[in-house]
Amino acid sequence: MEQIAYVNGSFVPLSEAKVSIFDRGFLFADGIYEVAAVLDGKLIDNASHLARLERSVGEIELALPETTARIQEIQKELVARNDLVNGMVYLEVTRGADTGRDFAFPKNVKPTLIMFTSTKDIINAPSAKTGINVITVPDLRWARRDIKSVALLAQVLAKQAAAVAGAGEAWMIEDGKVTEGGSSSCFILTQDDVIVTRQNGSEILPGCTRKAVVALAEERQLRVEERAFSVEEALAAKEAFVTSASLFVQAVVSIDGKKVADGKPGPMTNRLREIYIEFAKATAV
Ligand code: PLP
Repeated sequence: MEQIAYVNGSFVPLSEAKVSIFDRGFLFADGIYEVAAVLDGKLIDNASHLARLERSVGEIELALPETTARIQEIQKELVARNDLVNGMVYLEVTRGADTGRDFAFPKNVKPTLIMFTSTKDIINAPSAKTGINVITVPDLRWARRDIKSVALLAQVLAKQAAAVAGAGEAWMIEDGKVTEGGSSSCFILTQDDVIVTRQNGSEILPGCTRKAVVALAEERQLRVEERAFSVEEALAAKEAFVTSASLFVQAVVSIDGKKVADGKPGPMTNRLREIYIEFAKATAV
């Protein structure tokens, strides 16, 4: 059966899912996206993703073409139509298709809303057991990384460099400190058992998984510090890991070819992964 996508009010086979060449997402990266995980056919932490969607579109003065309640209904219908058990729902909203290429916002143009699904067994992904290697790259992005914009060229280049190096993620570096991964939030566990992750601000995307993991750790009286850290600090740490909707909690076992601790996923990372999976299953919708 051909996959079904959602495009501006219709559920259509992928081969018929099309937008205009004048779409501002295509011409200017004038759009916002979200990715929510699906486990056993249910959406994970979706309220958090929809809250971030509303914030991101607000920051660029883009009105959502549907309410977030309706967006969730569409996400669920798409999951059902594709018989999706485990994977992700991608959604993107752009400032729509005008009749030309004027930079300023067009008038009376309806935003574009598209969604599609992909399959991934996040829980049993092989890298969940082995951990991933990361490389470091300079952070080349713009100054509003808190907005989940579709302008991802710097991340495309960072993750391509990682792929060429046989690594699973690129950690982006600015002013000697790790900002975040190409598509993940970065954490370390210090030698005195403090979980450290960079504080939210315009330098990083406020990760939904990061937010949940910080809250779950604090609920369990684990010590968490939200501050920037360097690669040197990460290499001297007990553990390192990344979080994202499509990875959950994922160990980092080497950075630029140097092992983190013994080069194996550590017990805190494994524990936080289990805790997050439990939370995800318990709160899925
Ligand atoms: N940071 C960046 C730059 C990302 O692109 C992503 C996810 O795509 C994340 C962090 C993790 O965010 P979340 O946990 O909401 O998936």
